[in-house]
Amino acid sequence: TARIIDGKALSKTLREGFKTRVAQLGTQGVQPGLAVILVGDNPASRVYVGNKVKACEEVGVRSFHVGLAADTPEAEVLATIARLNADPAVHGILIQLPLPAHIDPRRVLEAISVNKDVDGFHLYNVGGLVVGNTIFPPCTPYGVQLLLDTTGTDVTGKNVVVVGASNIVGKPMALMLLQREATVTICHAKTRDLAQHTILADILIVAAGKPGLIVPQMVKQGAIVIDVGINRLPDGKIVGDVDFDGVKEKASWITPVPGGVGPMTVTMLIENTLRSAERALRMRQADDYQDWEAPVIHP
Ligand code: NAD
Repeated sequence: TARIIDGKALSKTLREGFKTRVAQLGTQGVQPGLAVILVGDNPASRVYVGNKVKACEEVGVRSFHVGLAADTPEAEVLATIARLNADPAVHGILIQLPLPAHIDPRRVLEAISVNKDVDGFHLYNVGGLVVGNTIFPPCTPYGVQLLLDTTGTDVTGKNVVVVGASNIVGKPMALMLLQREATVTICHAKTRDLAQHTILADILIVAAGKPGLIVPQMVKQGAIVIDVGINRLPDGKIVGDVDFDGVKEKASWITPVPGGVGPMTVTMLIENTLRSAERALRMRQADDYQDWEAPVIHP
């Protein structure tokens, strides 16, 4: 039976290390700051924002929670972002998705300074991922990469199958592993005969949002299985996309849900925020502040 990849434990270790980096920045007069913008009052979004703010405070990152009414005009959201872009106390800016229908999410994401884009969703950072030099890797796939590293596996040349092709998980995940010279297959809802692909995976990463999608017959003996899915069943139980009890008998390593990928996402958000603060400080010390201002990006 598979060994468990413990995301909760790894998160805890990483967050302890963050405290040292926060203290180090403190000696230079810098407290890292993360601004979280929530438009409207989607209950799930409110929970996510609450978790992020709490995790920040636990390691000494200052959080700026900006709550805007659901009917806030797009121009006002853009003005809020412009203000935060210019605020030196803010090192990361995150806009909680989904946004109300009258706001264009692309326009809002592109308004965030690429130097504060700690979610990694700005086109500049997305492009950076494609060519292999992103500033801020998107948090969920970044967390998965660290979880994979804890197994001691070198992904070079391995068959990696990513199930799910969203912009926030599946696609960036595939790009990161391609950068590490894995052989990457991306499957999605239109893929014909999913099992034909998954059975070849040395590493299977699942982010579809479909409970029970991956059953043991679809998994190669000894595969590493990472379950990104978070699904709430009618009885309130939280499960992933993988039949955990069945698949753990075939896999060599597996992530649980909850306690696998979930805690890592927020941890990597803080990592990106600390990196942004450290980067801002270096740039300032290099007396080169202008050079690190956002490059002009034409829509
Ligand atoms: P999404 O709905 O944007 O994308 C789902 C992807 O899965 C799509 O590409 C779709 O084509 C594919 N898909 C759907 N049904 C499929 C099927 N039957 N077979 C193969 N592919 C299928 O979702 P998302 O935002 O990428 O999130 C995916 C899952 O991961 C969700 O359960 C979400 O809650 C979870 N998630 C977890 C974290 C975390 O921190 N652990 C972060 C983000 C998302």
